[in-house]
Amino acid sequence: MTTPTIPKPVVDIIDTLKHAGFEAFIVGGSVRDMLLGKVPKDWDITTNATPEKIQECFPHSVYENSFGTVGVKTESDDPTTKLVQVTTFRTEAEYFDYRHPKTVSFASSVEQDLSRRDFTINAIALDKDRGVDNLIDPYNGQQDLQQKIIRTVGNPDHRFKEDALRLIRAVRFAAALEFGIEKNTLSSLQSNTYLLSKIARERVGSELLLMFENKNTTQAVELMKTTGILQQALPEVATGIGVTQNKHHIYDVYQHNLLSLQWADEHRYPVAVKIAALLHDIAKPQTKQGEGPDSTFYGHDIAGGKMVINISKRFNWNKQLGQEVALLVRNHMFYYSIGDVTERSVRRLVARVGAENMDNLVKLRICDRMGSGVPKPEPYRLRHFQFLVEKVQKDPLSVALLKINGNDIIKSLGVSPGPRVGYILSALFEEVLDNPAANTKEHLVAQAKKLNKLSDDQLLLLREKSKQREQDINNREIGKIKNKYYL
Ligand code: ATP
Ligand code: MG
Repeated sequence: MTTPTIPKPVVDIIDTLKHAGFEAFIVGGSVRDMLLGKVPKDWDITTNATPEKIQECFPHSVYENSFGTVGVKTESDDPTTKLVQVTTFRTEAEYFDYRHPKTVSFASSVEQDLSRRDFTINAIALDKDRGVDNLIDPYNGQQDLQQKIIRTVGNPDHRFKEDALRLIRAVRFAAALEFGIEKNTLSSLQSNTYLLSKIARERVGSELLLMFENKNTTQAVELMKTTGILQQALPEVATGIGVTQNKHHIYDVYQHNLLSLQWADEHRYPVAVKIAALLHDIAKPQTKQGEGPDSTFYGHDIAGGKMVINISKRFNWNKQLGQEVALLVRNHMFYYSIGDVTERSVRRLVARVGAENMDNLVKLRICDRMGSGVPKPEPYRLRHFQFLVEKVQKDPLSVALLKINGNDIIKSLGVSPGPRVGYILSALFEEVLDNPAANTKEHLVAQAKKLNKLSDDQLLLLREKSKQREQDINNREIGKIKNKYYL
């Protein structure tokens, strides 16, 4: 077999190390992906040079952690080779808390380094000058690659107890690569899921995020469910198992969430939509009222949005991602029937969700619909809705777009700066959301003068009332959806 092309920045790093008298190999995911005929998404090099020696060879490097990994910055513009991880051969002795090695000792041979790696397919080293016909493969990783098998390096019980994150990694690789999990590895995995509660949540969170970024996330979730990982790592999703819905649903809450994800997965929707699809109905079990064909789930969208924020915090996901997913979940019940949907309601929705998120919100709604087992999306209704979304975008959809600002109010009404100015502005914004034609300076100044006659309490009351009204409109519209589909 000819050795696949290795990018120049990676070749240069290896050559530099070798010229300095060290050994250097490509390892881990990069070798695995090359052997599978895929382009690796990042490159890992292992060497007998100590972190200090690596840094001497590469002045533009950063010593990333205490585990012997140095990030070497290259001149490359390609994101896969911008930063190359160079790690000193190491062995990990005992693990003291199921997540961090108690001691990291540097090893003298690449074979020793390979012995501490998780799965056979990730424990192959390539010396670029000797090529793929001379791989260092003490655990027969190539054979497992050919037979599409995930198998731990060494005794699975021992390896999972050493670092329980490997449980999730096994599932992640099995789903993404479309591999099976070897029998002993699988049964050990199933009996060790309880260990997941002991490892750092953010490590679990980043593995889960990688699952969403990979393809076949649906299979990964299903495999997590059958092995018992889901119940440990994402109990909010597992709670939906067996929670039946009402007369218009053929699936239970879990299956419906999963099938919604499947649509997102198959259509390569953005990660935020994929996560939102799996999580959009997680609050249904706790909001369910009644049993059987007439049960209801009032408020599951709002409660679900809050649960998403908690999940995202628990996993230490990027805050922006967490907020976007929560926003999508919180607003997934929007109303879009031709003839019934008003420009005003679309304007309020876009003002609340943000124009930049509308596309993903529509995608989520398609997932929701397709996950209910209906035969097809509703392209004409959605197109009409999207037309309205576009149309209202020329309207003033935020306080900042009013033709009057805080200073104008202070000047023309003679009020002093303070919260009152904000109350007046938001009352004016409410009016403009209903009627964009009202957004002229003269009109708004005149209105502001009228509003200024009200006390602070009255202004606040007005704001409460308009919030309430918005909620009523929402409820009415959601009520219509519910009557139609029993969501
Ligand atoms: P991906 O393509 O998803 O990045 P990868 O195999 O490169 O897959 P990384 O998390 O980048 O995965 O890890 C690089 C390598 O480090 C792995 O291939 C494996 O050899 C080793 N490794 C990573 N995490 C562990 C772990 N928890 N236990 C043992 N070895 C690990
Ligand atoms: Mg990697």
